[in-house]
Amino acid sequence: TTTKRAYNFNAGPSALPLEVLEKAQQELVNFNNTGMALMEMSHRSKDYEAVHNDAVARLKALFSIPDNYEVLFLQGGASLQFTMIPMNFLTPETTASYVLTGSWSEKALKEAKLFGQTAQAASTKENNYRNIPSLEEIKFNDTDAYVHITSNNTIYGTQWKEFPTTGEVTLVADMSSDILSRPVDVSKFGIIYAGAQKNLGPSGVTVVIIRKDLLEKANTNIPTMLKYTTHADANSLYNTPPTFGIYMLGEVLKWVENKGGLEAIEKQNEEKAKVIYDAIDNSNGFYYGHATPESRSLMNITFRVTDEELEKKFLAEAKEAGFVGLNGHRSVGGCRASTYNAVPFEACQALANFMVEFQKNNQK
Ligand code: PLP
Repeated sequence: TTTKRAYNFNAGPSALPLEVLEKAQQELVNFNNTGMALMEMSHRSKDYEAVHNDAVARLKALFSIPDNYEVLFLQGGASLQFTMIPMNFLTPETTASYVLTGSWSEKALKEAKLFGQTAQAASTKENNYRNIPSLEEIKFNDTDAYVHITSNNTIYGTQWKEFPTTGEVTLVADMSSDILSRPVDVSKFGIIYAGAQKNLGPSGVTVVIIRKDLLEKANTNIPTMLKYTTHADANSLYNTPPTFGIYMLGEVLKWVENKGGLEAIEKQNEEKAKVIYDAIDNSNGFYYGHATPESRSLMNITFRVTDEELEKKFLAEAKEAGFVGLNGHRSVGGCRASTYNAVPFEACQALANFMVEFQKNNQK
């Protein structure tokens, strides 16, 4: 291919695999020789249903999702899951425990407070969310409705390396920014959810993986569209789903399979992150990371440049050199390189080289 691609380090929506975009482009106007775009078809048509069911089946296989789980394709983003989870599973008599590891966990907790009692299972806010708490620090009760964690903290650049074991208590995880970046033991979780727009496809579809026995225990006196059972009973076709996004998700899953599956992807993600972290660690403090080394994310690499003037210059020159999306989140500033699955190693190597070169030219 001759398409010139940007070095895209956007945090979300973010890079998609070139191969997927090109295939979608080829199929865009005339899908499967129907004379229609997939987007123009009924969601009840055979052609669309095949795409839909194939995406569900592929996600189950690729992520090793056990048979006692449902895969749902919803709308409203991960943000609506912040609401749906307590709406379905918290009651005024029960408590939900949240581990606070960044802004997204705070937002999830804020919604839960509308539906019942909440508790902090742990928080690393005092350390400016530089780290993930140790498993021993996490406190919850056997009677909790669930324990909620954020597996990867997109803004602060931290990631859980090991997940807590919660026994009879349901473990819920927001995996929006690292789903499919590594193998996960899904059976540890009652619910996993993720907005698609980082590792899974374009924005507009939200993946929810939910253990079937939970569906029977969910609250029933809630709006139809916000009930998990509505969508589980209808194979996520209760109403019109985001058909194009689900098609793209299916194509991204095929791409991950072709890359060798999750173990291979994890290895590539480790190599990609390493070249950038090495540029930080070998800079003698010219660059410094936000996250503590043991909590570093392989998906969002957050760092600062030694002084503010130079940081501005770094971001401006990086932009000029064709690197996209390196500004840190507006709430924390600094720099952030998001190295999701679709970001190629070459882009990470190019950024690392640029960092070394910039340091050489600007070190006082
Ligand atoms: N959770 C995490 C960890 C995120 O990174 C994001 C978005 O960046 C969200 C939730 C919100 O997702 P959405 O925009 O799909 O509502």
